[in-house]
Formats: sequence, structure tokens, C-alpha cells
Amino acid sequence: MAEPLLLVNGVSKAFARPRRVQALRQVSLHVDAGDFVSIVGPSGCGKSTLFNIVAGILAPSAGDVALQGQADPDERRLRSGYMFQKDLLFPWRNVLDNAALGLEVAGVCSRREARERARGLLPRFGLEGFEAHHPAELSGGMRQRVALLRTLLLGRPLLLLDEPFASLDALTRRELQAWLRATWRSGSEAALLVTHDVREAVYLSDRVYVMSPRPGEIVAEVAVSRTGDAGLDALALARCEEQILAALHVEAAAP
Ligand code: ADP
Ligand code: MG
Repeated sequence: MAEPLLLVNGVSKAFARPRRVQALRQVSLHVDAGDFVSIVGPSGCGKSTLFNIVAGILAPSAGDVALQGQADPDERRLRSGYMFQKDLLFPWRNVLDNAALGLEVAGVCSRREARERARGLLPRFGLEGFEAHHPAELSGGMRQRVALLRTLLLGRPLLLLDEPFASLDALTRRELQAWLRATWRSGSEAALLVTHDVREAVYLSDRVYVMSPRPGEIVAEVAVSRTGDAGLDALALARCEEQILAALHVEAAAP
């Protein structure tokens, strides 16, 4: 079998300050090329910590991570497109310049070329005609699309999405989920999403990992069977949701 794109093996993390906190315990998971995988877990269980470790920003206390076979944190950082919960757009930059920022900072190409590449993708991201607008003039959903465009433009193999829709209203979130399902492959080979929205995880993913409250451990792995590309068999999805909720509740009820 081919090596997975991302392999997380027995990762634990304890923070010493401001007080000792065991954030993650023995987390193992994998993401194959072509996969959309989600991690569902309660707030504070270490999801963002895990992402920071995968992206090479934070060192684990134990365990190891390989992304495209690379264990070196710098190599992993260069292979990850990380999108945060907050859109982190610069208010003084317009849509085009915000979208081009990632490429510009990465030094992949000139500012001019970065803007041209971003411009080419605006229609696909529903941002055509808005290139000169500033973040304050956009809806929350549009701002998240700019942030995602900036991330996908980097063309990193692994897309890391840390609760990208958490701050949006339910309707906008639905819209963006459908759109993300159709779009994420345009830049990356695989996606890993963190969310506490079980329905979102099932709707978007091929596979869902469930994490316990802190210290975060993987307590279940649920495969989402689909009957084709747009095959959202409502009954099968509902069963997956039930399985995930059961895993979350078992842990929540434990002493
Ligand atoms: P989640 O993203 O699942 O909500 P986090 O990964 O942000 O959870 O945090 C997990 C735990 O680790 C929390 O208790 C948090 O306070 C703690 N933590 C996160 N980052 C740090 C840090 N840099 N220093 C100390 N504690 C941290
Ligand atoms: Mg978080």
C-alpha cells in the first residue's frame, strides 16, 4: 500500500506554562492523498494544538509526524496550507492583495504574478468584481472565501482547516460547505478539517476522527460511505452522525 500523505503517530503534547496542561495523548491518524478527513472534538481538546504540530509550528512532547514522508518541521510547514478560524485578512489591503499575500510572503513568485494568479481564481471563489473591495466591505462568508483562496493559491499538498466556518451564521455556513466540497481539490491533494459541528464533518468528509475532551485522544474513527461524488445518501449520513455523537457522548459521560 502507498504511504499516506500524512502520518501522525503516537503524538502527545503537554504544556508547562502557564500551568501544566496535558493537551494531547497518544494521537495517531492518517490522511491519504485525495482524502477529506475531519476531526471532531469538544472545545479545548487540543485540536488546534494538533494542527500546529502537523504544520511544524509546535513540537510534540512525544510521537512523530510525517508529511509526504518528511518528518522535519520546516519541510512540513512548507507542505501545509493552514487556514485559521479567523480570516486574518489585512483591513487595509483589498481582496486581490489579501488573496495574493500568501504567495507573496512565501516568496514563490513576484507580487505581480501573485496578483495575476489570484485574479484568475476570483470567479471560482465568487469574488469576481470585488477585487478592489476591502475586508470591511465584505460579508463574513466572502471574507472566509478570500482567506481560503489565499490558502489554496499556495498549492500546498495538505490543506489544514481549523474551524473555518465557526464564526458564520448557519445559512452562510451551509453555502460555504457546499462550495468547499466542490473547490478544495483545486489547490491541495488532501484536506484535514477541525470542527465541532458533527454534521459539517460528515457532509464534507470521507473519514471522521472523534476526539475526547482534554487530554485529547482519538476515541473513534468513522468512515463516511458515499454512493458517488455527490452521493449524499441521507440515511447513511444520519447513521454516521449518530455514531460520532455516540462516541462524543460516551466520553463526555465518563468521569
Ligand atoms: P481546541 O483547538 O481543541 O479548542 P487547543 O488546542 O486550542 O484546543 O487547546 C488545548 C489545551 O491546550 C487548552 O487547555 C489550552 O489552554 C492549552 N494550550 C493551547 N496552546 C497553549 C500554549 N501555547 N501554551 C499553554 N497552553 C496551551
Ligand atoms: Mg481550536
